[in-house]
Amino acid sequence: MKKLYQILQNSVLFISLLSIQSQWTYAANEIVCDKQIEFDFEKEIKKIGDVLSKVTLKNGFYQTGYNLKIDEDCSKRVKISELEKFYRATMAEGTMCLSKLSQYGKLGNENNACLLKLFEDKQNPPKILCGGWPFCKDIYAVGSFPGSSKRHPYLWLSPSTTQLMKTDPRELKATIFHEMLHNCGFTHSEGIEVTYTCEECCFNKSLSKDKLASACKICAGKYENEYDIEYQKDLINWSKDYPGWGKDMRQQVYMAATKSKSLESFNLLLDQVTQDASEREALTLIFKSPDENSKKKLALEFEEKFKNSIAINPKLSSLSKWNLNKSDAAANCGN
Ligand SMILES: [Zn+2]
Repeated sequence: MKKLYQILQNSVLFISLLSIQSQWTYAANEIVCDKQIEFDFEKEIKKIGDVLSKVTLKNGFYQTGYNLKIDEDCSKRVKISELEKFYRATMAEGTMCLSKLSQYGKLGNENNACLLKLFEDKQNPPKILCGGWPFCKDIYAVGSFPGSSKRHPYLWLSPSTTQLMKTDPRELKATIFHEMLHNCGFTHSEGIEVTYTCEECCFNKSLSKDKLASACKICAGKYENEYDIEYQKDLINWSKDYPGWGKDMRQQVYMAATKSKSLESFNLLLDQVTQDASEREALTLIFKSPDENSKKKLALEFEEKFKNSIAINPKLSSLSKWNLNKSDAAANCGN
């Protein structure tokens, strides 16, 4: 597991956790029916410009025939032709995967249309940035989302990606595709968790069949919003074996449960955290508490009363702390 953090211009911090996988087959094949609907990225971008045309340098950017701009600084780390080819292969693989998910929802096709549209915007084409990396060194990449930066849409690659291209290309592909989905407006702070689930659905081979199906259903857009209990079950099911990711996704469910005041959602979380009746009761009391002050008071009491259990089961602490500090999702460069 490698911990990644995404820091965006408005200082909102998002946690990313990407698993390192080396093998690959089409994840989506496992859940797809016989009707194959495929998206040919190469064919689509050829309509915009010649994919195989020479990459030319202009105003600090290498410009491809299909309107992708690559920061001149990238050439200090990797051959531009190699990077462009790798990026294009990533997009081809990711978009084909999304197109195969249409049995579950329309989001796969919508996201493919969105990704393609990025290249069609000649006034503001998508960019790959390399220079002036301002983020933590263990972040692989950052993707902008609409409104996050004047330079949007961009995919910013960290210095470590050159190495990753050789040592773990699968991981880099997953990261790039994840960040490109941010370009389409998906964040980790609200709504359905699209970027992680699509990354896992399309680029992760080691998930068990049912966890893969959970990730793919979410990525495909089976659920309308984050309050859907079936969505929350899939989110938890897919992520529960990842220590860090699992925590982040449980927190997303917690936030949704709090917003919707859904005890059913909260119980779903409790099932993941503890079976102990008194702990469940105390945590439920905090959840049901109507105002912030009483929530805080009860949460502090909980921390004190159950400190021995918390020492053994840190999930308990997370659940009570989320009541105290909703920005617990924010993280810094430390692991
Ligand atoms: Zn992200």
